[in-house]
Amino acid sequence: MDGRNELTAWDRDHFFHPSTHMGMHARGETPTRVIRSGEGVYITDTNGKTSLDAFAGLYCVNVGYGRQKIADAIAEQAKNLAYYHAYVGHGTEASITLSKMIIDRAPEGMSKVYFGLSGSDANETNIKLIWYYNNVLGRPEKKKIISRWRGYHGSGVMTGSLTGLHLFHNAFDLPRAPVLHTEAPYYFRREDRSQTEEQFSQHCADKLEEMILAEGPDTIAAFIGEPILGTGGIVPPPAGYWEKIQAVLEKYDILLVADEVVTGFGRLGTMFGSDHYGMKPDLITIAKGLTSAYAPLSGVIVSDRMWQVLLQGSDKLGPIGHGWTYSAHPICAAAGVANLELIDELGLVENAGSTGAYFREQLAQAVGDHPHVGDVRGDGMIAAVEFVEDKDDRTFFDPARKIGPQVSAALLERGVIGRAMPQGDILGFAPPLCMTREETDIVVAAAASAIKSVF
Ligand code: PLP
Repeated sequence: MDGRNELTAWDRDHFFHPSTHMGMHARGETPTRVIRSGEGVYITDTNGKTSLDAFAGLYCVNVGYGRQKIADAIAEQAKNLAYYHAYVGHGTEASITLSKMIIDRAPEGMSKVYFGLSGSDANETNIKLIWYYNNVLGRPEKKKIISRWRGYHGSGVMTGSLTGLHLFHNAFDLPRAPVLHTEAPYYFRREDRSQTEEQFSQHCADKLEEMILAEGPDTIAAFIGEPILGTGGIVPPPAGYWEKIQAVLEKYDILLVADEVVTGFGRLGTMFGSDHYGMKPDLITIAKGLTSAYAPLSGVIVSDRMWQVLLQGSDKLGPIGHGWTYSAHPICAAAGVANLELIDELGLVENAGSTGAYFREQLAQAVGDHPHVGDVRGDGMIAAVEFVEDKDDRTFFDPARKIGPQVSAALLERGVIGRAMPQGDILGFAPPLCMTREETDIVVAAAASAIKSVF
């Protein structure tokens, strides 16, 4: 057996992959692809096949692959100090510097960062902080969290419950009790097609208010949402959405959590999606773009308003009983510092805005008129093409036809990686923020050709 075949066999026999059809993988129907290296927007596998990764891994390799500066920072930190914990006031130069850099870049009113390792654990931290906050304030009943259908907030026990995608609930018996789901701000799939965007946004806000009133405002602690729905279909908010939602939340004293795991650090052409859409969150979840995935690191950014209440908790209860061994891991923090410096040095936030706009325009021009393309949408450097069976009636394909996966497979044959989003026939793109116009043209040409080949 040569090295490659041996790896394939070991992979089938021993590697339990996330988000993978277990039987298909074990039977070899899901091909094993072993990725060996990456440079810029390209990755190369052990067969020597190179692909333009127009999904940046899982919308996370924002600075692109192969950045020497980050690799050096990681190596240097590993040599000097591979690990020390962050409990009881300990820090490292990297973790303290990174917390300052994050707050300097965060929306107004934010003052502290609690570090974790993944978007999921950061959202678990959010839930605990929200419950703690209301306990400190003497409101033990105010505990329910409202999320949206099609929202994605992770795969943990509580964060899996917050996630509003059926696949992530299947057969796991996740706790339903403190989590409620309200309508997704999915204008393209709205039921009443006569509604304008503003009217549909008002409808979403009204639905939210109805839910709050039905449950009792004193029982609702927080609302969590991604500035732009990501894994649920890459759906930008319709006009006026966040303004109207926030008005309802303020009315009933409900906290807002902006889950910026995808949008944080530039993806929408602004440092944070909250700035882009005028959101004023109490908590912000960050992960992916914080290190561009060179090392796992996440965080919860806490507003000063909320912090002042949390502080009182320690006076009553002692040290906060919430900690991860690897919180603020120095190697990951060093990667974060180098990554944020690189984003500034290369002007990647600006490039996400300008090249992102070019990408979406070109994509709409190239595929928008296709009879089975119902919608081309996005914002900044994130975009989606949604397929329909009938454009005029806006009817969708039977999921068993797997149109999304077929198109993404055809795209891969053409050397480009896009993602068949998990619910609906949607081809998603979230390229590294360093993508150039020339590379954009390659992605668009491949997408047009792939779509043509499927229909
Ligand atoms: N929140 C959002 C918006 C995400 O997109 C993701 C992952 O894609 C998560 C949370 C969970 O992050 P992780 O996979 O690092 O746990």
